[in-house]
Amino acid sequence: MEEKCLCEASDVLIFSCSGGSNVGQISNQAAVDLARDGKGRLFCLAGIGGHVKAITEATKAGEVLVAIDGCPVHCAKKTLEHAGFSPQVHVVVTDLGVEKAHKLEADPVATRSVAEMVEKGLKG
Ligand code: SF4
Repeated sequence: MEEKCLCEASDVLIFSCSGGSNVGQISNQAAVDLARDGKGRLFCLAGIGGHVKAITEATKAGEVLVAIDGCPVHCAKKTLEHAGFSPQVHVVVTDLGVEKAHKLEADPVATRSVAEMVEKGLKG
């Protein structure tokens, strides 16, 4: 079977939990940065949770789904799974040693590390 580098996928859809904490905001900022760098398209997790038809149909057309979660509650991954999707790349901010706190600053160093983890995951 031919191996395929996921980073070559023409349609990478990125979902972040975007939660109300530092790690949630890091997940959001990493997703924004990845989209701005052309690594994928930032997609609407709320639309998946709301079963919005246009968004679920567009997600079905995505070749690679990325879920970025702030913490082990895994809201982004669970929301996707609840709608029948299985993200091929899943990164959890707290797994990188960032402690969850109820503040909203997205630390730039942690954000860069999360984006790099996603890029690594896309390379397979
Ligand atoms: S995964 Fe954690 S940080 Fe993200 S929305 Fe859920 S509880 Fe909040």
